[in-house]
Amino acid sequence: MELPFAESWKIKMVEPIRKSTREEREQWIREAHYNVFQLRSEQVYIDCITDSGTGAMSDRQWAAMMLGDESYAGAKSFFHLKEVIGRLTGFEYVIPTHQGRAAENVLFSHLVKEGDVVPGNSHFDTTKGHIESRKAQALDCTIDEAKDTQLELPFKGNVDPAKLEKALAEHAERVPFIIVTITNNTAGGQPVSMQNLREVRAIADRYGKRVVLDSARFAENAYFIKTREEGYADKSIKEIVAEIFSLADAMTMSAKKDGIVNMGGFIATRHEDWYEGAKRFCIPFEGYLTYGGMNGRDMEALAVGLDENTEFDNLDTRIRQVQYLAARLDEFGIPYQRPAGGHAIFVDASKILTKVPKEEFPAQTLTIELYLEAGIRGCEIGYILADRDPVTRENRFGGLDLLRLCVPRRVYTNNHMDVIAVALKNVFDRREEITRGVRIAWEAELMRHFTVKLERL
Ligand SMILES: *Cc1c(COP(=O)(O)O)cnc(C)c1O
Repeated sequence: MELPFAESWKIKMVEPIRKSTREEREQWIREAHYNVFQLRSEQVYIDCITDSGTGAMSDRQWAAMMLGDESYAGAKSFFHLKEVIGRLTGFEYVIPTHQGRAAENVLFSHLVKEGDVVPGNSHFDTTKGHIESRKAQALDCTIDEAKDTQLELPFKGNVDPAKLEKALAEHAERVPFIIVTITNNTAGGQPVSMQNLREVRAIADRYGKRVVLDSARFAENAYFIKTREEGYADKSIKEIVAEIFSLADAMTMSAKKDGIVNMGGFIATRHEDWYEGAKRFCIPFEGYLTYGGMNGRDMEALAVGLDENTEFDNLDTRIRQVQYLAARLDEFGIPYQRPAGGHAIFVDASKILTKVPKEEFPAQTLTIELYLEAGIRGCEIGYILADRDPVTRENRFGGLDLLRLCVPRRVYTNNHMDVIAVALKNVFDRREEITRGVRIAWEAELMRHFTVKLERL
């Protein structure tokens, strides 16, 4: 008999979590203005709000923390991190930052001007924020198929080469760079194929443009290339990672994802001019160049995390857990963005809460219902997150309206996945009774989802 699959690690330390009653949760979510970001973590049983900074570090990462060099300038830990990044990506220049959006802030301060157009696949919300706040446009050139949640495609995060070509033909002078997000978070943690990265490179070269990879989940993307793309089955994750970055000029990185650290990020590039430009913004915004917002110990833990998470077994354990949750949802007929993404399941709220009008935010309503059901915290990736159009100030209802259930790395067991699946089934079973959603009582101008105050209708 073939042996079943099991995790490629064992557990050395545990953190107790606590269940609550429905009455408690009703009070807590009301006090949080129906915004799950406003809940306290003790009010949550299983936390799927994000996979960002919520992973469990390994014993080797914890051990590395003791080696942190906290020197202000020239810290050994910086050079260790730089060596690992250089070895994995081929990028010579590295600027540490306190997280991914800080990397965007520093690099974009140098590169993005008013009136610019930054094409790519779907821009992550902070990426879009950093482009739009500079009065430039983030142009989403993702393949149309990504919008059909029920279509099974191996690389649903891809850039549509025709759309990209058109964007460059129309706006050539106003394009400072192309940005490709791997995996495509907004489209459901969907990967981008190596073939597609090659096509983007070819188009960029034709127009003399550089390519930035928003690389938060580059290792998960490499796993999908290995397991789904022809010609890569026998390559190691590290070989695939090297090939991915050989097709790019620079990366911005949220190390809180595939770096498996709780805080951190960086910019890396092969171009000295971009490094020199970005440097000028690192010092005032983040800190001196050899720490840029990170502790020495955190740079050590990140160096180990990057090495560990570019090994197949670690990624296999992680992605199979997400696929396990997806298989449970399949049993119950719950629709989600197919196939399952690398870090999360994106439940298609518009196909579940069909009686809740879009103006009442179905995905946010589903998020609230799942919390009330079992204390599980997901988050809306939908019409609230989409913010208003910067020109017309209308809500943007053009995209998908999803409930995202992120799976933190190396944190929960498949028993927790079972609880999530059954809780969602219970909400799904009473979906016809849910006819009203929420209205916005207060919102910020940009990235409103973090602080929005809602009222239940
Ligand atoms: C998380 C994320 C960011 C921003 O990184 P932070 O570390 O949260 O600031 C940028 N891009 C993508 C694709 C992300 O997932």
